[in-house]
Amino acid sequence: MTRHFQECELISVLTTQPLGGALDYMAPVGGCIDGAFVEVPLGPRKVLGVVWGPGEGKVDATRLRKVIRVHDVEPMRVETKAFLARAAEYTLTPMPAMLRLATRSPGLGDPPSMRRVYRRGGRAAPERWTRARRRVVAALDEFGSLAFTLGELTEAAGVSSSVVKGLVEQGVVTEEESPRDRPYPRMDPRRTEVALTSEQSAAARALVAGVRSGKFGATLLKGVTGSGKTEVYLEAVGACLEAGRQALVLLPEIALTEGFLTRVAARFGARPAEWHSGVTTTERRRAWKMAANGRAELVVGARSALFLPFRDLGLIVVDEEHDISYKQEEGVIYNARDMAVLRASIAGAQVVLSSATPSLETWANAESGKYARLALTARFGAAVMPDMRAIDLREENLPARRWISGTLARAMKERIEVGEQVLLFLNRRGYAPVTICRACGKQIDCDHCDAWLVEHRFRKILMCHQCGATRPVPYACPSCKAEGRLAPVGPGVERLAEEVRGLFPDARLAVLSSDLFGSAKDLKACIKEISEGGADVIVGTQIVAKGHNFPLLTLVGVIDADLGLQGSDLRAAERTFQLIRQVSGRAGRAERPGLALVQTCQPDHPVMAAILSGDEEEFWRAEAAARRDAGVPPFGRLAGIILSSPDARAVMQVGKTLAARSEPLRRIGAEVFGPAAAPIARIRGRHRVRLLVKAERGAPVQGALAEWLAQVRLPANLRLSVDIDPQRFS
Ligand code: ADP
Ligand code: ZN
Repeated sequence: MTRHFQECELISVLTTQPLGGALDYMAPVGGCIDGAFVEVPLGPRKVLGVVWGPGEGKVDATRLRKVIRVHDVEPMRVETKAFLARAAEYTLTPMPAMLRLATRSPGLGDPPSMRRVYRRGGRAAPERWTRARRRVVAALDEFGSLAFTLGELTEAAGVSSSVVKGLVEQGVVTEEESPRDRPYPRMDPRRTEVALTSEQSAAARALVAGVRSGKFGATLLKGVTGSGKTEVYLEAVGACLEAGRQALVLLPEIALTEGFLTRVAARFGARPAEWHSGVTTTERRRAWKMAANGRAELVVGARSALFLPFRDLGLIVVDEEHDISYKQEEGVIYNARDMAVLRASIAGAQVVLSSATPSLETWANAESGKYARLALTARFGAAVMPDMRAIDLREENLPARRWISGTLARAMKERIEVGEQVLLFLNRRGYAPVTICRACGKQIDCDHCDAWLVEHRFRKILMCHQCGATRPVPYACPSCKAEGRLAPVGPGVERLAEEVRGLFPDARLAVLSSDLFGSAKDLKACIKEISEGGADVIVGTQIVAKGHNFPLLTLVGVIDADLGLQGSDLRAAERTFQLIRQVSGRAGRAERPGLALVQTCQPDHPVMAAILSGDEEEFWRAEAAARRDAGVPPFGRLAGIILSSPDARAVMQVGKTLAARSEPLRRIGAEVFGPAAAPIARIRGRHRVRLLVKAERGAPVQGALAEWLAQVRLPANLRLSVDIDPQRFS
């Protein structure tokens, strides 16, 4: 039972303000219930808060202030509260910041604005029928009781607004005011029957049984690209809708959603609610409210959709669960995949982690039996996995400033001539990663960061990929002033495109790189064009690795397979393996068989060997063994602490003080490494120092970290962030 607080009773309200936290207030006139969204005074301001239980009585009664008003939205449910509290505890995030994540919907407290809508009215026919009038009535009848806005109706019927107004006057169409935050159209879980293959239907049956159990459970759905993972988990979504519970599908990136949304709409007869950075504020508020009252049956979104206030969540799908974009690395640092499992466990929901190349964490959880495991081994229909071959760059004698080997160029030529598509993959934006002065040897770097500036030739700028600062490409060297001596070093996608243009002047070329598109919409349009055959050669960064379907694509060339293996990152091998397998999976999705050519200087490297042989299980076993030996995740725990400040000495000093007071950590058997300058030692003028905490798997790390960090008072300009289970060491 939700607790009701009487007027003037003492209650605790959690606000979104950093220094506010949970504070005592007096319940408002008329009382309020636990979990209600309220407006409270805080200092001179009025802020958003949530009733978090009875007051603690720490403030003396004369200084207590009263809740101003209760917002007209669904109160926060007990499960949501529990989820936020556990997530905060796990990630060492203060509760106000956690609450901000859960209320990222502007105007929550506003009354829903109204808009004018149109439906069929009481009169069956107008005095006189015209063609235009018939079209309006037909459009309305097609959608039953659904209301249209004037714009929607005139577009659907292909008439002018005066036709609609005329029908309103005659009572054939009614006009009324209705709240803008309208429910999403109902989904029909049984609208489409898909004839699944026997392997697919075995997997689907297992997922559906999980959903019907109404209990928590986690499943790894592993299957090669194109094997029908999406078809299979949509069966589970259907079962969830049928059971009357809500489903959430998380996707790594906006570029994926359009094709996905139409696919969902075709299957369930209506578009789902969307939640990502490209959604308007009105739609965000609508999605938030409808998630809360249950009228958004299916939400498709980016990682932060996980913090929506679902009324009754029965299923979470994390598509491409290994994708690094699930890790939020700024503000609240969390991994949406892990938080999805946490949320599902609290909500009594199923979670499906879908991937062709799962993260080692998930693979290990499936191995140990913590997660169930389902496998799809064959591509759907005629498609087969591409043939993978290495091109040994040591034998290719590539001339300077050339990156496409003769072998690769010949293969490209063959494909282009028969009208098939070629994709060249290079995970580097811009024209050249480094610009050097041939007179003095200086490499141009950022004024604010410890990073080289990257030339972007299409946009005629040098850009810092750390802070985003740009400047025009100079003619004279900023250091020695020599003119006309600056030269690009190394390739980026733009430079690779230039090489393609030289080799195949008649081929139609598309360059896909996140910085070349003004908006997600432009990118979507470009991807659509490519999939319809609008390009012969595609040059792209990792944005091409994600689920796009290019039926004509039969050859993938990986330009520099060794790139990801450089550096000391714990996950370098895993990342390289995933990325190259994913990109290669783009080839040969339709009837035509695919080929992936991987350019490398170290074809015998164990990671390359695993990529080429396609023996994924072998790769994971070897990688797991190495990590187990080293005691690192998922077999041990790591936490990264990043300190940053404009003052280089002060930041190192705080690092040393922390290292010297590591007693709370040593008590749980954890080790502290550092302080050391972070791999990127300066970003936006802030010097960065990191410490690394390593502990055994079951160690109570969060509590010890909190105690440890609380010992040190931080100077005002020093920022400290804690990254539990860091994904990268930058
Ligand atoms: P994945 O998610 O594993 O990459 P998809 O579910 O996207 O695979 O399937 C790849 C393609 O094959 C899609 O176009 C999908 O519609 C089609 N497909 C897969 N399984 C079936 C099936 N049983 N019946 C019809 N089409 C299917
Ligand atoms: Zn910079």
